[in-house]
Amino acid sequence: MSCKVQGTAFITGGGSGIGKSTAIAFANNGIRAISLVDLNTSLLEETRDELRNQFPGIEVEILQANVADEKSVETAIQQTIARFGSIEIGINCAGISGNPTPTADMSLAEWQKVIDVNQTGVWLCQRALIRQMLKQESRGAREGRGVIVNVSSMFGIGGPPGPFNIPHYTAAKHAVVGLTKMDAKAYARQGVRINAVCPGFVDTPIIRQQIESGSMNQAFELTPVGRPAQVEEISDALLFLSSPMSSYMCGAALVVDGGYTV
Ligand code: NAD
Repeated sequence: MSCKVQGTAFITGGGSGIGKSTAIAFANNGIRAISLVDLNTSLLEETRDELRNQFPGIEVEILQANVADEKSVETAIQQTIARFGSIEIGINCAGISGNPTPTADMSLAEWQKVIDVNQTGVWLCQRALIRQMLKQESRGAREGRGVIVNVSSMFGIGGPPGPFNIPHYTAAKHAVVGLTKMDAKAYARQGVRINAVCPGFVDTPIIRQQIESGSMNQAFELTPVGRPAQVEEISDALLFLSSPMSSYMCGAALVVDGGYTV
């Protein structure tokens, strides 16, 4: 068996970084249609055009939506179904970083902003995806009704070493792992398979400024492989968890961090 993916994928944060790279990995491995969801319309348009140029015949829908907004998420799912009829793969990747701030100095607004997108946003999308997948027919033991992969972080499994004080981001990413496990258990027998990826530092726009300023050098020193991940090293893990190759994985938090948390 190979890492082939079938049907329609719904990818949040699909305009940039890991989400965009996952769309390309899916297009390279058999996907028929992709709905890309992002706040940023120009990034969505760029990604759609790149996909259409590289993969003639692929169908791409772009949906400007805020994952932290219930109505926005419901509309994005409805628009995807209206165009493609079903969703076989849901990737919850949209996220923001939080400014390093000790809890004692953090405002409620700073906390809430990160929790709204990185935690509630994942739950809103996961709920909508599960509701949709439960309406679909099972395609057999390995494919089931659908697959969801959530993008957490190595900050979702512990407090990694180094000078990082991001309690809001860490709390949200732990919540994503918890939600992944609970819903994976709850829906596995109904054919909806849910897992998470926990990346270490990845060279994407979210941390590019810090990489270029040299402020991440200490972190890379602490990383056994000695460098940040290339974005494809994370999207390949998402491809694996989305394909029937990983059909017996359920509620896993797959750490892909170059050994940082070992
Ligand atoms: P990125 O900034 O390149 O991509 C994130 C995308 O999410 C952007 O296109 C942005 O517009 C979109 N987005 C942000 N808020 C949104 C919202 N409310 N609604 C819809 N879209 C929204 O960053 P990335 O590195 O690709 O990050 C993707 C995910 O990976 C995030 O959840 C991030 O926390 C996680 N992650 C990244 C790293 C890293 O080092 N890059 C490490 C671990 C985890």
